[in-house]
This record gives sequence, structure tokens and C-alpha cells, in this order.
Amino acid sequence: MIAERINEITATLPETVALIAVSKTKPVSDLQEAYDAGQRAFGENKVQELVDKAEVLPKDIHWHLIGHLQTNKVKYIAPFVHLIHAVDSLKLLVEINKQAEKNERSIDVLLQFHIAQEETKFGLSLEEAQELIESESFQSCQNIRVVGVMGMASFVDDEQQVHREFQSLKGIFDQLKASNFKDNAYFKEISMGMSGDYQIAIEEGSTMIRVGSSIFGGR
Ligand SMILES: *Cc1c(COP(=O)(O)O)cnc(C)c1O
Repeated sequence: MIAERINEITATLPETVALIAVSKTKPVSDLQEAYDAGQRAFGENKVQELVDKAEVLPKDIHWHLIGHLQTNKVKYIAPFVHLIHAVDSLKLLVEINKQAEKNERSIDVLLQFHIAQEETKFGLSLEEAQELIESESFQSCQNIRVVGVMGMASFVDDEQQVHREFQSLKGIFDQLKASNFKDNAYFKEISMGMSGDYQIAIEEGSTMIRVGSSIFGGR
């Protein structure tokens, strides 16, 4: 079942779009099934769960932390995490840089932007992001690379609204690319789109979709 769903989704994806299989709350056996179907990128939203699963699963998996990350937990994933999707503060960036240094590596992150109408979502505005990027503390972070942006659209039936919200994230990406990240070839990722809205996200320029329930079933 899981293998079929992965194959169905990947068959429809443009080559420019990566599938992150969001496996939060699902047992290791489900992840193994996805792995056996060829899936190598997995997303988790809790640090402890990600670490526990990484310990027992194959080492060539790319682990993506997609949920809100607390500074005191960065150290647990710093040795091996592939990409941290939801970075929305300077304090967190500084801590990720510190832990990356300790592990003698560089860690890739995405800046999370608030694009939904809902109040509860985390994320920066374009102005906040630019202020952060231009700050001295950020400029001195040598062990992190900001490789792009991430956002979540509102959970609404109005597809036009979802289109507009994803367009706004693409617009933010384009502005940052044209200014702060002008000469950085690695600033190229737009992480947007989940089970309910990834087709729309792809139409609006997504390069990474984070899909859980359409692969593993409801939670
Ligand atoms: C859970 C989660 C997803 C996946 O959601 P589905 O609707 O199950 O595809 C994507 N992104 C984030 C940040 C999540 O927390």
C-alpha cells in the first residue's frame, strides 16, 4: 500500500520537485516499507521521534526536521540532520550554527515564513527575514547555509486563497534571491505543499513537497 502510494505520487512529480515522506507518528515498519520502495527523504516534526527512528533505520536516509525546533534540542539532531525546514529566529540560527561547528559540519536550513491567514502558525515576514539575514550575528554564522524558504498555506477549501498564499511564498523567495542571496547557487529550495495542497504548491513553484497522510494514511 505505502509503496504504491509513493510510486503514484512520484510518477506525477516534475523532476524539479522532491518528495519528503512525512512519517511522524508512524511506526518504523511503515518507514521501512517506504524505504524499500526507494524513498530516501523522510520528514519528522519531533526531535526525539526523529532520533529514535534514525537509530534503527538505514544510514543513507536523509532526515528532514519539518516542525518547530526548540533551541535546547538542536544538539540531538546536529550530527546527522539533512535539512531543518522551520527556522524562524536568529536565536535558533545561532544555536544551529554552534552545534554544527561542534560537529565539524555545515547544516542546511530553510527560513519559515508566515503565509497563512491563521494566527497560530509560526514564521517570519519578509522584513523580519531581511533584518535577520543582515544582522551581524547571522553574518558570522559560518556553519549554516540558508538554502531556501518554507511555508504552510491555510487549511481552507478556497483553492484561490491557497494559490495566493503559495504565490506569496514564491514572491518572498524571488525577492531574497534577488537581494540577499544573489550569488548563492545553493539558495534554491521552496518547501511548500502537503497532502491536501501539493498540486497547487507545485503549480506555484514548489521544489519540495512534504506529504504524510497521502502516503501513510491518516494520523
Ligand atoms: C504533518 C506535516 C506535514 C504533512 O501533512 P499531511 O497533510 O499529512 O501531508 C507537512 N508539513 C508539516 C510542517 C507537517 O507538520
